[in-house]
Amino acid sequence: MNRPVAWLVIVVVIAILSAHAAESEWKAGLAKVRITPDKPVPMAGYASRTKPFENVEQDIYAKALALEDRQGNRAVLVTTDLIGLPRAVAEPVCQRIQGKTKLVRSQILLSSSHTHSAPLLSLEERTETGVAPEDARNIVAYTSSLQDKLVDVAAQALSRLEPARLSWGSGVAHFAMNRREFTPRGVILGVNPRGLVDRSVPVLRVDSADGKLRAVLFDYACHNTTLTQTNFSLCGDYAGFAQSHIQEKYPGAQAMFMIGCGGDANPYPRGTMDNSRELGAILGREVGRILDATLRPVNGPLNCVFDHASVPLQPLSRAELLKMTNGPSWQTGNAKAMLGKLDRGDKLASIYDVPVAVWQFGGDLTLVALSGEVVVDFVPLVEQAIGPLQLWISAYCNDVFGYFPSARVLKEGGYECRGLYTTEGFFAAAAQDVLVAKVRELAQRAGRKPAE
Ligand SMILES: [Zn+2]
Repeated sequence: MNRPVAWLVIVVVIAILSAHAAESEWKAGLAKVRITPDKPVPMAGYASRTKPFENVEQDIYAKALALEDRQGNRAVLVTTDLIGLPRAVAEPVCQRIQGKTKLVRSQILLSSSHTHSAPLLSLEERTETGVAPEDARNIVAYTSSLQDKLVDVAAQALSRLEPARLSWGSGVAHFAMNRREFTPRGVILGVNPRGLVDRSVPVLRVDSADGKLRAVLFDYACHNTTLTQTNFSLCGDYAGFAQSHIQEKYPGAQAMFMIGCGGDANPYPRGTMDNSRELGAILGREVGRILDATLRPVNGPLNCVFDHASVPLQPLSRAELLKMTNGPSWQTGNAKAMLGKLDRGDKLASIYDVPVAVWQFGGDLTLVALSGEVVVDFVPLVEQAIGPLQLWISAYCNDVFGYFPSARVLKEGGYECRGLYTTEGFFAAAAQDVLVAKVRELAQRAGRKPAE
C-alpha cells in the first residue's frame, strides 16, 4: 500500500470509529393525541354516577414513547388518561399496531392512569347499569374512535425516532393512603394510616442527543381518585395535573404517567378539584426535583417479553354462590352474575389469563408491567422474587380486568376482593403465587440478573 492510500485508510477508519462513538445509545420517538370526547359521555369508575360529564376541566390525552436500541430492537409504550383498557379494547389495538409497524406483541405496552373522571369504555351498548340508550351508543362510538387514535399515536411515535439518551431515578410522594380500613363490620373503603403503600416515584428521563429534555415518564402507586362520584367535570385527576405541571415547567417536554400497585391506595386528602390540583402539583414538583438531580444512565439492549399467567379462580358451588349473594356488598354482583351463568347452563371459568410484561433495559433497569388493579402487597412479593434493585413496578397495563388481590387481602375480605369485571369469577388465594412465578420467569427470560 503506498503512503497516501494508507493515510486515507487510517482517516476513514478513524471517521467510522468516531461516528460510532458519537452514535447515541437510543433512538426515541414521541407523539400525543387529545382523546377528550367530542360529545359528553358517562364517566367511568363510580357505579352510582350514570349521567354524562357536564364540562371539561382538563383535556385528556394518549401519549406514546417509542424506543429503539443500537441493535434495532424497538418498542412502544402508550399511556392514557383513562380508567383502564380492558382486553376487549386493548388487544385489537395491539394487533393493529403490530400490522402497521411490524412490532411484535411483547414490544407494545398500553397503560392507563385510572382516572375516575374520564369516559366509560365499552364496545357493547350497555344500559343495564342505568346508562341512557343514547349515552350507551355514544360510549361505543367514543371507544372505537379511541382505538383508532391509540393505533395512530403508537405508529406516529415509531415514525419519529431520533437519537436519544435515557436516564432514571426515583423520588417519593406522601399522599398515597392505604384505604382498607378495619372496622368491627369488616374491611371498608376508608383510611388506614398504618396500612402499607408504595410511595416511590420512579422517573425515566428522555433527552435528545444534545441533552435537551424531550420526555418524562413517571409512576405513582395510588388510585387516581381525588375526584369522587360527585364530580361531573372531565379530568385526568392528580395524574393529569401532575403531567401538566411538568409540561409547564419544561416546555416542549412530553410528560407521561403510569400507575403502580395502588389497587388499595387512595389519595389523601381527596374530594375536591382543589385537592386534585394540589396533589398533582406535589407529584409534579417531586418529578421535577428528580429530573434536576443526578440520574443514572439507562443503557440497552432493550429486551421485551410478554406472556400470560394462567391464574386460578375460586371454584364455587351454587350453594356457596347463593350464600355470597347475601354476604358483604362487594361480592354480591359477581356472585349473582355467576349464578346467572349457571342458570343458563354455562360453565364457570376456572382460570383467567393475566398479561404480564417485562422490559429489560441492559443491566440498568427492569420495568415489570402488571395488569389489573394490583394491590400493594405485590411490591414486596415481586421485590423478593427478582430482587429490589433497578426495579420499576407498574400496574393497570394491557388488560384492566378488575382487582388483583393478594392472598392476605383475599383472606381479610373487602372491596378489592370483588372479583373480575370482564368475566364472572373471583381470584383464588393461589393466584398470587402464580402471578409472582410468572414475573420471575419473565424477568429471567428478559435477562435480568437473578436476585442475590
Ligand atoms: Zn380502581
